[in-house]
Amino acid sequence: MSADTLKKYVQKMKRLRVDRAHGVAPHKPLLLLAIIELIERGQIQENKIPLSPDLAETFIKYWSKVTSRKPNIALPFFHLKSDGFWRLYPNPGYEKALGVADRITAVSRLREVVAYASLEDDLFVLFTNANNREIIRQTLIYVYFLDLKEKIEGLIAERQQITEYGQLLISEVEQPFSSQKSTVPMPKEEPIRSAGFRQAIMRLYDYTCAVCRLRIVTMDGESATDAAHIIPFRTSKNDDIRNGISLCKLHHWVFDKGLISLSKTYQVLVSPLMSDRRPTEWMLTELQDKSILLPERNQLYPAQDALAWHRQKVLRQ
Ligand SMILES: [Zn+2]
Repeated sequence: MSADTLKKYVQKMKRLRVDRAHGVAPHKPLLLLAIIELIERGQIQENKIPLSPDLAETFIKYWSKVTSRKPNIALPFFHLKSDGFWRLYPNPGYEKALGVADRITAVSRLREVVAYASLEDDLFVLFTNANNREIIRQTLIYVYFLDLKEKIEGLIAERQQITEYGQLLISEVEQPFSSQKSTVPMPKEEPIRSAGFRQAIMRLYDYTCAVCRLRIVTMDGESATDAAHIIPFRTSKNDDIRNGISLCKLHHWVFDKGLISLSKTYQVLVSPLMSDRRPTEWMLTELQDKSILLPERNQLYPAQDALAWHRQKVLRQ
């Protein structure tokens, strides 16, 4: 990567075509900060950037540090194309609609019309290098958010800690599982710890309930699934991801209450307290023996020790 390319993009970042009618509009630089973060986290690995819930959630986190106005990621995602390094690609059948659109303001419409965006290739390559990313990031902060520098840098540092903790938890599976405690040092702040655990579990299960396969993720990154501990955290203090599983709100609750558990072969066990003679309980009783969703690699599966503990201590007989 030549120094000229870096220089070229530093200049382009300084001169983003932002709306200045009501002060400098923060949309575009914040979208770029969010993209840089997702590249850093390994969540954007190729130069094909869809308007994903992850991107929207990250954008909104930055947005909330800058203004109390309502965020709308559709605006910068569409209008960044006027800056000469961002291209939009239509969904099949929407080539013409995208070609003539001079604005798209609703996220739903944008997702209907646009399949993904891409950066100019040399910019994407630039972003794959940590030093270059940092230079562009600092440029954006310095030029557009100088008075909020500390707040934004604090947020970036916090989010880096969350990601780092989540990644450490995933790499920990190279070690044997211990039901006592994870070997990864826990972040001191509770919200960072729980967000890191959640990020790791959601990466493994893609926001899907392992029991019923429900997957609902809103465009602000809210989801119907929880990162549940098999041996509860308050007892075990154990964030080993093999002590974790992704469950929707209902199945998290019945799992914690011992109305369902999991067998050695990863099938649902329903407590005998539930009866299929009562139609109101069918939603649970019909889950008996159903195989759960599991992560890709078997090293990442819920640990047998944790499941045995749950069957013994939590499942109601
Ligand atoms: Zn569920």
